Amino acid sequence: MSYVIDIPEAMELPVQGGGQFPVQQIYCVGRNYADHAVEMGHDPDKEPPFFFMKPSYSILHSGQDMQYPALSSDVHHEVELVIAIGQGGRDVAVEDAMDLVYGYGVGIDMTRRDLQAEAKEKSRPWEAGKSFLHAAPCSELLPIAACGEINSGAISLSVNGDVRQNGDINQMIWKVPEVISRLSTLFSLRSGDLIFTGTPAGVGPINKGDRITATVAGLSQLEINVTE
Ligand code: MN
Repeated sequence: MSYVIDIPEAMELPVQGGGQFPVQQIYCVGRNYADHAVEMGHDPDKEPPFFFMKPSYSILHSGQDMQYPALSSDVHHEVELVIAIGQGGRDVAVEDAMDLVYGYGVGIDMTRRDLQAEAKEKSRPWEAGKSFLHAAPCSELLPIAACGEINSGAISLSVNGDVRQNGDINQMIWKVPEVISRLSTLFSLRSGDLIFTGTPAGVGPINKGDRITATVAGLSQLEINVTE
């Protein structure tokens, strides 16, 4: 095969124990924890969670520097459990959904909150707020074969050692199998896809010079530094 342009850089995530996971689409769930929906001014009983996407190039590995993005002065952290899809599917039943899962990671749905707020106000799409270089830091992945299903456990994020977000995976409104099933009715899930499953309360701004750590019980910690 001869390509007519340079082949773009392949995005990947390291796997605990060895190997690389090739990253394809990045799906995200909005307002999947009631306390976060409330802090953003919404009623989770009236508005169910929903989906949006980020480009694969927004992946940033643990230990790397996050470049503070342009055109924003209010970038927020949202710590999230990340699902790595190992096998594709469409219209997947809830009871079959876990068959698609390769493993788990800890991610941060970085958000240009000022640009997102402007998009909401003007009823425009969210990409300007959610999609940019380094918008999706993610830890190394742990295969589900090694850890089993994660349905509960602490999820937290600290900035310079101060805990800002502290929740539990069991607070998710749509549980992981339900997220996968619903996504697969809207989109064609494929191997290599990631799903960021929503954030608990406590989102807030990051600043240049910050050291951010994100954890989910049982998974590798995610650590990044925010730079110019
Ligand atoms: Mn989020």
